[in-house]
Amino acid sequence: MSNEHPLPLTGKVALITGSSQGIGRAIAQRLAQMGADIVINYRSNAEAAAQAKASIEELGRQCIAVQADVSKEEDVTRLFAEATGALGPVTILVNNAGTTRDKLILQMSLADFEYVMNTNLRAAFLCTKAALRGMMKARWGRIVNIASVAGLMGPAGQANYGASKAAIISLTLSTAREMASRNVTANALAPGFIPTELTSIVTEPQRKYMLDNTPLSRFGTTDEVAAAAAFLCSPEAGYITGQVLAVDGGMSMHM
Ligand code: NAP
Repeated sequence: MSNEHPLPLTGKVALITGSSQGIGRAIAQRLAQMGADIVINYRSNAEAAAQAKASIEELGRQCIAVQADVSKEEDVTRLFAEATGALGPVTILVNNAGTTRDKLILQMSLADFEYVMNTNLRAAFLCTKAALRGMMKARWGRIVNIASVAGLMGPAGQANYGASKAAIISLTLSTAREMASRNVTANALAPGFIPTELTSIVTEPQRKYMLDNTPLSRFGTTDEVAAAAAFLCSPEAGYITGQVLAVDGGMSMHM
């Protein structure tokens, strides 16, 4: 690669939570293609994380894979210490780790509610807090939070998930306002239905319902979400902050 035309994220360190598979993995790959060194994070699947790391190293980028449950403060502290120690300060953060425990409210236990809120929302707060100091020091930062159309629409059976994703949108706006003077942007993506392990439990009638309510009449891909995330992380997106971009085939137009 010629020094005259470096890739747009050359020299930046990007940490993507939950990036051993699915959308997070696609985002990690895309940011690496744009020149960033990458911190892969996973909770339990070390083999998938090792594969993700190898495919990033094939691109010539530096990459570490760190096991950490990002809903736990001590794990987040360790994750950022390992990332900074190995690669330098994290100036691109993608809060992507997420989970579901779908049930109607009457059947949903407090444990179901708290598990999803902790994985989706608490983790995003903890990682944002851990990343901000380094971004402020660098006077440059990009935060992309992976919300969901569920956070805009409040689907039946997803009171916990929808609430966590709506809250992530508000967290994004607060982060954007607090950090604007430091040249740190914060934006959210709201994907529609993307086939991954997370959505493998969705039943055929539910899939048909979603397809019927998606103007583009197809499901999205992890690469399509990654392309939007990569744009928001790029230098070209420097004047965009506090936005929620739906990557949903038009599904949220039905609200
Ligand atoms: P996925 O295939 O299930 O992948 C989830 C990833 O998150 C895995 O790498 C998993 O690691 C990791 N993870 C889960 N809990 C974690 C924790 N506590 N600490 C660290 N890592 C954790 O899911 P996905 O479909 O790619 O979803 C990614 C994000 O997109 C989520 O926030 C999801 O809500 C959002 N989203 C997805 C869709 C969709 O249709 N797929 C739509 C809208 C929004 P391990 O496997 O090692 O546990």
